[in-house]
Amino acid sequence: MVVTIVVVCAAFVLFVGLGVYGVVLRPRRRAREGAGRSPARGPVPEAVAGKPPGSPASAVGVKPAGGSAGTVGPASAVGPAGAPELEAEPLPVLERPRFRDRLGKARSALAGSLAGLRGRDRLDGQAWDELEEALILADVGVGTTGALLQALRDKAREPNGLAGPEQLVNALAEELVARLEGDRELHLSGDGTTVWLFVGVNGVGKTTTIGKVAMRERAEGRQVVLAAGDTFRAAAVDQLEVWAQRVGAGFVRGNEGGDPGAVVFDAVQHASARGIPLVLADTAGRLHTKVNLMEELKKVKRVAGRPPGSVQEVLLVIDATTGQNGLVQARQFADAVEVTGVVLTKLDGTAKGGIVVAIASELGIPIKLVGLGEGPEDLVPFDAREFVEALVSPS
Ligand code: GDP
Repeated sequence: MVVTIVVVCAAFVLFVGLGVYGVVLRPRRRAREGAGRSPARGPVPEAVAGKPPGSPASAVGVKPAGGSAGTVGPASAVGPAGAPELEAEPLPVLERPRFRDRLGKARSALAGSLAGLRGRDRLDGQAWDELEEALILADVGVGTTGALLQALRDKAREPNGLAGPEQLVNALAEELVARLEGDRELHLSGDGTTVWLFVGVNGVGKTTTIGKVAMRERAEGRQVVLAAGDTFRAAAVDQLEVWAQRVGAGFVRGNEGGDPGAVVFDAVQHASARGIPLVLADTAGRLHTKVNLMEELKKVKRVAGRPPGSVQEVLLVIDATTGQNGLVQARQFADAVEVTGVVLTKLDGTAKGGIVVAIASELGIPIKLVGLGEGPEDLVPFDAREFVEALVSPS
């Protein structure tokens, strides 16, 4: 009898103990761990510039979905039930750098030559030659330089035209601004899931750009899904995954070497099912298989545009330090897919800022964003007037 009572009491104590742990203590511990992992609440990206450190693949559980792609939500939200709770809190808005502070190399090249021109006392043949040389050296390109000079000569011939070299430089600045103005907006579709495709050759800064754009969108309170469409570069996929974790974005990856179209398609489905309005899709950039690459891009774009997907932007990422080569790349991509805008990276590292003018005027594609450094805050909307002033003003 006594033994039975002791056993019953022990069982009761054990039962109550387990209940308290399961109902109160365990969920609290989980919540604490979850908050610690949350990418949107933690300190945002001290190391997001460039190749992020660490081994992201092991940090996030990847759940294979049906088909070729696997999907995960933001790292903190991947749960066994499979429905990620997206981080809805906006990220903090980062202060953007000024063109003037970052275009040191390009500025000293062009503003330096133009300072010499301003110092001349007459607008003679030599002054015009000096201007031509300055523009060619700044990588404005022969065609665009010719067109600019023609417009300025026409202006000089007008009654009350250009009185001297100072006025010539001012008129040049106005011509440049006029050629660089354009639609800089990144468009969202009214309904369905907007897709922004990022295209460009390897090494230009495409993956980093997608991460930075995701961060900007998250700062505006918009939820996004990143699609790792460059299935041939495991490092790029991992890099994108780290960005997704850090900014609290959804993430969709495929099998290595798998169909990029399937990844983007799955990303659209993933976003649509969760009411996420925007998918940022990486694409391959292997130049050595140029014909295949362009065909693949066309296919990715077609697939991404299947309802509920709607491709609103095809953003060509170009490395400004490659100068006129960037223009050649831009032509090839523009021929294959309808490029809606250019993201010009590494403008902080080039003396040839004129490439911006060459791209905008020869291809008629607006420059929408520019990279002024490696930091997450260094991708900024292109501002034609601020850019030109930074490039040509004497001090
Ligand atoms: P991807 O191969 O095109 O995906 O290129 P990544 O995104 O991996 O970038 C290549 C390198 O360029 C990285 O070290 C980036 O930090 C660097 N990078 C990207 N954008 C900029 C920029 O605007 N300025 C500078 N200085 N470096 C940049």
